[in-house]
Amino acid sequence: MNESVQSKEKTINIAVLPGDGIGVEVTAAAVKVLRAVETRLGAVRFEFNECSVGAGEYLKNGDPLPEKAFEDCRSADVVLLGAMGLPNVRWPDGKEMTPQLDLRERLDLYAGIRPIKLYHSHDTPLKQQGTGDIDLIIVRENCEGLFSDRLSKSDPQTDEVHDVMCISRKGAERICRVAFELASKRRQKCALVDKANVLPSMVFFRSVFDEVAKEFPEVEASRIYVDAMALYLVQRPEAFDVLVTENMFGDILSDLAAGLVGGMGMAPSGDLGDSCAVFQPSHGSAPDIAGKNIANPVACILSAAMMLEWLEHPETVKGGQRIHRAVETVLQDPDLRTADLDGELTTMQMTDKIIDKL
Ligand code: ATP
Repeated sequence: MNESVQSKEKTINIAVLPGDGIGVEVTAAAVKVLRAVETRLGAVRFEFNECSVGAGEYLKNGDPLPEKAFEDCRSADVVLLGAMGLPNVRWPDGKEMTPQLDLRERLDLYAGIRPIKLYHSHDTPLKQQGTGDIDLIIVRENCEGLFSDRLSKSDPQTDEVHDVMCISRKGAERICRVAFELASKRRQKCALVDKANVLPSMVFFRSVFDEVAKEFPEVEASRIYVDAMALYLVQRPEAFDVLVTENMFGDILSDLAAGLVGGMGMAPSGDLGDSCAVFQPSHGSAPDIAGKNIANPVACILSAAMMLEWLEHPETVKGGQRIHRAVETVLQDPDLRTADLDGELTTMQMTDKIIDKL
């Protein structure tokens, strides 16, 4: 996919999946920013292809991830996703629709990249943390771990249900390699977050991590139990650079870490495979605030910036950097915030402030 966007004058096909709840509002914001940055770049053009996926699509047509939308995602250069699922729209067995997880698994987007950055002391509940003090990336394994059994059916009459923690050599090796490669380009520290004092699967994960660590002698490798990491993230988040962990631990720690820098509205993410990628804010559809034009668009806008950088075309990389700088500039002023961060701006007003600084 990357090769196709390397040539000179290039149209980049972006599949946009607004999804449910505030997903619709924040993707509209991110697309507006992308349109604005496109006018400032040479040699690239963005073509957006909006696809209906999610709980709303299920209510309309009985399938939350229609095959046509899946194929559009697979054939796009890249995918921008809002948020999916609604608490009152469930499968007959009671589980929520999670087409975003199906998409991850079917496209083998094994590396969940979740940057956590503090832009201003105003946004953190921690004392003595200021701009840039918290700057880490959680690398979450996306395709196995404790989520690997999520589609299994349990007998409703049973008195015992098991969820299997699956760690494969292939899965562990590739996620650890992604984490070390990232760390080698950053502050050269990579910590494995596991539970190797209790679970055999985690002992295995640690042994694979140790093997991969030898390929990166310049990176300082450490191993930390997940319960201790929950403590350390609150006590001294500035100590960490890249954290790598299994699926469920990554799910939980990314919400905790987002809470340190202003909440879910400030946490972008990219789900990367070897040839495809989906970028989305780490938050869900937030039905409690949907449709009010008050959702924080920053996480989705930063996800769009990550997307442009991942495309690796010189112009899109510039575009991604421009968006990052614009967000940083706007967030220097603590009065420019949406309601989740005690501000008064609407989703679109916040978006326009960022566009002004492009
Ligand atoms: P999921 O399990 O689908 O990831 P969730 O249950 O973790 O979702 P979210 O939808 O992420 O829940 O919302 C958690 C809380 O954070 C809610 O109170 C929601 O209003 C708030 N929130 C999430 N995203 C945003 C945003 N972009 N702007 C403002 N508030 C947000």
